Amino acid sequence: MVAIRVEALEERARLFADQGLFQRAYEQYIEFHAEDAALRAAQREANARTLQAVFETTEARREGERFRQLSLRDALTGLRNRRHVDTELPLLLAGSREDGSPLSVGLVDLDKFKSVNDRFSHAVGDGVLVRVSGILAAATAESGWAARMGGEEFLLVFPEVNVDEALRRCEDVRQAIESVHWDGVMTGEVVTVSIGFTMLQRGRTSQAALLGQADRNLYAAKDQGRNRVVSDFA
Ligand code: GH3
Ligand code: MG
Ligand code: MG
Repeated sequence: MVAIRVEALEERARLFADQGLFQRAYEQYIEFHAEDAALRAAQREANARTLQAVFETTEARREGERFRQLSLRDALTGLRNRRHVDTELPLLLAGSREDGSPLSVGLVDLDKFKSVNDRFSHAVGDGVLVRVSGILAAATAESGWAARMGGEEFLLVFPEVNVDEALRRCEDVRQAIESVHWDGVMTGEVVTVSIGFTMLQRGRTSQAALLGQADRNLYAAKDQGRNRVVSDFA
């Protein structure tokens, strides 16, 4: 509406000018100019308000995403947490069921970890969990991910990784943890892990079945003397 009125003022100024009525034309032009300036200022303000709204929405979305990410991470180690496992693993399972791509997991539990806390301190124990987590994260940096299931238990997830390769990576993880020098914190100590490894197979396609088998394999690894990877297939 305002824009149309401004246009009309300009048109009238032009008509007066055409008729040689320059005084009237000039007055109309002045009026047109004032209205036009006001219109442009209003438009600029509206644009600024729109930009501000867009900016605030983007910021809110970014903040929301940041909090969502934080809520899926473990506070101590920075690894994924149980909630991430419960949202992501079912999706990976569904994908593998659909296209037949490989999916395997390694359930990792620190051996005799209670004794680290007891003989050193809970803080030293926390440091061990953080260092071990770094090794787990590195093992899944290229593909897959690592999560802290709770306490001193972790899950390595290898989607679309050849199963022999995934099993080899679990063995590498076991060796890497065993080889850490804990100088300064608990000099001369050796920390080890037991890993229950398993893969998605026909007839075992639910998360509960997959993790249940990994847990049985982990238990077998503990039973056979710890510091080893046990898999339920050759
Ligand atoms: P096993 O080889 O059979 O697994 O023996 P374990 O001592 O590791 O197992 P157990 O379940 O008896 O003890 C687990 C210990 O892990 C007990 C608990 O104090 C410790 N733990 C769990 N969460 C944390 C944590 O966040 N920080 C520290 N420092 N210790 C933790
Ligand atoms: Mg343990
Ligand atoms: Mg445990």
